[in-house]
Amino acid sequence: MAREKIISNESGGVEDEQFNMALRPQTLADCIGTGDLLEKLKISIAAARGRNEPMEHVLLHGPPGLGKTTLAYVIAHEMGSTIRVSSGPALTRPSDLIGILTNLEARDVLFIDEIHRLSPAVEEYIYPAMEDYKVDFIVDSGMHSRTINLPLKPFTLIGATTRSGMLSPPLRTRFGITHHLDFWSAEDLLLRCRMTAGMLKMEYDESALEMLARRARGTPRIANRLLRRCRDYAQVKGDGRLTGSSVTAALELEGIDVLGLDDLDRRFLAKMIEIYQGGPVGIEAMAATLGEETDTLVDVVEPYLLQTGLLARTRRGRLATMKAYQHLGINPPATREETPLFDEPE
Ligand code: ADP
Repeated sequence: MAREKIISNESGGVEDEQFNMALRPQTLADCIGTGDLLEKLKISIAAARGRNEPMEHVLLHGPPGLGKTTLAYVIAHEMGSTIRVSSGPALTRPSDLIGILTNLEARDVLFIDEIHRLSPAVEEYIYPAMEDYKVDFIVDSGMHSRTINLPLKPFTLIGATTRSGMLSPPLRTRFGITHHLDFWSAEDLLLRCRMTAGMLKMEYDESALEMLARRARGTPRIANRLLRRCRDYAQVKGDGRLTGSSVTAALELEGIDVLGLDDLDRRFLAKMIEIYQGGPVGIEAMAATLGEETDTLVDVVEPYLLQTGLLARTRRGRLATMKAYQHLGINPPATREETPLFDEPE
């Protein structure tokens, strides 16, 4: 069963992407949260501008929907430059990458989403481009083959990935700034909800937004999406104003519980308990049991369950914690309490 769109951190089609674009802040001053990264970026951008140079290459990693693309656009805007957007899977041949690189102007930003999915053949060309602003490529073959050395304008590469562990070390070390984006706090999500509600010209009770922020899985993209669903509900079933009871009813209809878990999250934990006695169990076995892609479970489901302490990762596999049993209202087996729930971490 495909993951419900509402909770999925991935893009939900053209309409959703347009909505996302419209809600993206453009300047650093309008950005919310993300720890000390904003301050670091502010300094790097001011320094680069002062020297009239491009900013250092930036690697952003973390679960989808937390703001990697937004930051890339903000950096380009603050640098007064143009952004070119591509992704690891889209750059299938070296010529795709070379075409983009040779068209960049000085201090432009190249944003590569899912950079861990670049093919090794394409990645080869990224190293000299990042380091020395040049690409070397071979034309013709055999006796007539020669290397063409193409200088590039100095640019900034911003890479985004949900799996920094899958990045090759030579690529990872070429980024000057590396930052992990964490799930947002309920306070930051509340600020985001107020911002979105304001942009959508919605009327709301503060308590309604607080509830929404607590159930948005620490993810601004989900907060935005839920807000739209709640707005529809309030408009059709009430007088349009977002109240605590309309948010409760709308989220219930969407299958989102008090911790912000959706059907797939709960099925993940429930199957782990039912079929694998709470684990430890390997992620591939879980994917087969649920009929889901391993990548979806690793990128979208697991990080939040780990963050909320419902799941533990150990060398022997994944384990449902006591909190998971409690949340699902399942009695843990008697032997369970004697078994240490957290053995050595992975
Ligand atoms: P990612 O690229 O990590 O998947 P996005 O950059 O698309 O995530 O962010 C999703 C949404 O979250 C954006 O449309 C925007 O509304 C909101 N958002 C992300 N980062 C910020 C931020 N720093 N301040 C305010 N809103 C943000």
